[in-house]
Amino acid sequence: MIYLTMPMCYHTSQMGIINLLPENLINQIAAGEVVERPASVVKELIENSIDAGATEMIVDIEDGGRKLIRVTDNGCGMSREDALLSLQRHATSKISTVTDLFNISTLGFRGEALPSIASVSRLKLTTVPKGSISGTSIQIDGGKEVEVKEFGGAVGTTIEVRDLFFNTPARLKFMKSTTTELSHITETITRMAISYPSIRFIYNHNGSPIYNLPSSKDLLSRVCGMIKEEEKSFLPVSLNSKINVSGYVSGPDINRPTQKSIYIFVNGRFVRDRVILHALMDACRTVMEKDRYPLAFLFLDVPPSDVDVNVHPAKSEVRFKKTDEIHRAVYAAVSEALKGWTEKKTSGQWPVVSGQRNEFQTPDSNYQERVMEAIGRYAASNSSEFGVRNYPIPSPTLPLKGREFFPRLQGEGQGEGGVVEFFSSLTVLGRVGGTYIVCSTGNDLCLIDQHAAHERIAFERLKKTYRDSRPESQTLLIPEVVDLPQSEGMLIGEHLEVLSRTGLEVEHFGGDTFVIKSVPAALSDKNIRGLVRDIADELAHSGRTKSIDELMERLFSRMACHSAVEGGDYMDPREIAALLRDLDSIDFSSNCPHGRPVFVMLSQVEIEKMFGRR
Ligand code: ADP
Ligand code: MG
Repeated sequence: MIYLTMPMCYHTSQMGIINLLPENLINQIAAGEVVERPASVVKELIENSIDAGATEMIVDIEDGGRKLIRVTDNGCGMSREDALLSLQRHATSKISTVTDLFNISTLGFRGEALPSIASVSRLKLTTVPKGSISGTSIQIDGGKEVEVKEFGGAVGTTIEVRDLFFNTPARLKFMKSTTTELSHITETITRMAISYPSIRFIYNHNGSPIYNLPSSKDLLSRVCGMIKEEEKSFLPVSLNSKINVSGYVSGPDINRPTQKSIYIFVNGRFVRDRVILHALMDACRTVMEKDRYPLAFLFLDVPPSDVDVNVHPAKSEVRFKKTDEIHRAVYAAVSEALKGWTEKKTSGQWPVVSGQRNEFQTPDSNYQERVMEAIGRYAASNSSEFGVRNYPIPSPTLPLKGREFFPRLQGEGQGEGGVVEFFSSLTVLGRVGGTYIVCSTGNDLCLIDQHAAHERIAFERLKKTYRDSRPESQTLLIPEVVDLPQSEGMLIGEHLEVLSRTGLEVEHFGGDTFVIKSVPAALSDKNIRGLVRDIADELAHSGRTKSIDELMERLFSRMACHSAVEGGDYMDPREIAALLRDLDSIDFSSNCPHGRPVFVMLSQVEIEKMFGRR
């Protein structure tokens, strides 16, 4: 017998228990999806202004958007009737039939944004339609109409959003610091400004200008002004087919550790799309260092009927009818753009790309399994003092039998004084592949990846100096001046104290300019600009979600990439000996920065098996 107890509890009388929710509650529920944070309000308002044909936009923000978000445009404006309707749910001028829904050429179409925003803030809309000198002003507080009056002014619309989430305390709690919210807003405006270079954007925070971008015919000059890179670092992308692909991609020497600087637009809309990203990375694979991403601004013109934008309320995802066509077009366009570089690289003019592993062939069919098992054992013993243990451990190309040889991997005999001289006792036989140091224990073979080893040593040193609060820094003779894009500069600015604890001393010079005075001693990177950029990228990527210890571990990992020796760099015997000594001071029981092995062992037994002796 089945007891249906739960539903019975509700039906205590004969009356129905289902209610139609009040309009304002519906709007607040929709706001949960559309209005995640101040930046989402900015995005919706700017989209509306663009759809209204504006050529100029002023965005004023106060207190990271908590206090005020105001977007003023010179678009077509609205009549009194339309202005009142625009604040109603599902009221839109952009579509009217189902056919329209599958042929969208505007940024908005759901008729949800204004009523949603109005339900969770104090919103004032003032608008004057084209050809008129008077218009309408409407004040709505928490979704309730407070005042509607006549208004005189220039053609266009201003929407002022104050005290966002004032009536939804649970949402208010989720707001982050002013800097964090502001960096999200800046990123949103950056995307819009890249997508619409012909629109003039003025953007102020607490009355200070952040962007003042004149209307421009030239995408590249607008982009480079914002991201603070040089125009010559970019290659034009252009493919005319059923799907047009245009934009720019950076050459391989300008790259980033995350995908943050890849901007993809489909029919003018910024989207995050795996297919396009995959095609882009596929095309860059031959020239780009492993684990690095290019800077890219790709614009796809896809027939509106071939793309579904109604996938998510925030409209940042799209669905394509013909995914393979999209992939092919992007791959072809980017490959063509990078052709010049690829040719140079294969003709040997470009340095060997580090981090690519050689394939090791073996006739043993159980080989892969045994390797995976060994990795499994190795990975299971890993634990980090910061509590991070989810770095992927990729399969090495040789059996990883470190634990059997190396007592410290079992977590024994460690400690400050208890240095086990394993690496320094090895006999160095030579180097192969310009990157791997070949050593012998007498019976077994040990291969060390010189770049990974340096990275690991730098990582551990950074961690130690941070933990001991004794940063070892190297003062720069001539301080380095770096201009950073707005959103990155804000994040660096917020973390100056934390960075100084690693030995990286950065000062805000004013505006977008930062001065680097010293770098951690564990690093001796010449590309300090690149280092700071990578750090900003990491802060943007994980700074908001991770605890400080996790964040620091990620930062050390980024910084360690900038340690001195690259794969392919020559090392003399003295340098190799020093590297081996340094490796002896490393505690290998914790995870390494990228999960790549620093060394692999091949035991005598293993070697004998390969030769069919066992
Ligand atoms: P959607 O953009 O999906 O249509 P919104 O709620 O964002 O829905 O806006 C509702 C309507 O209000 C729009 O369809 C448009 O007609 C009008 N509107 C909104 N913002 C503006 C603006 N800045 N200028 C002119 N009309 C606007
Ligand atoms: Mg809209």
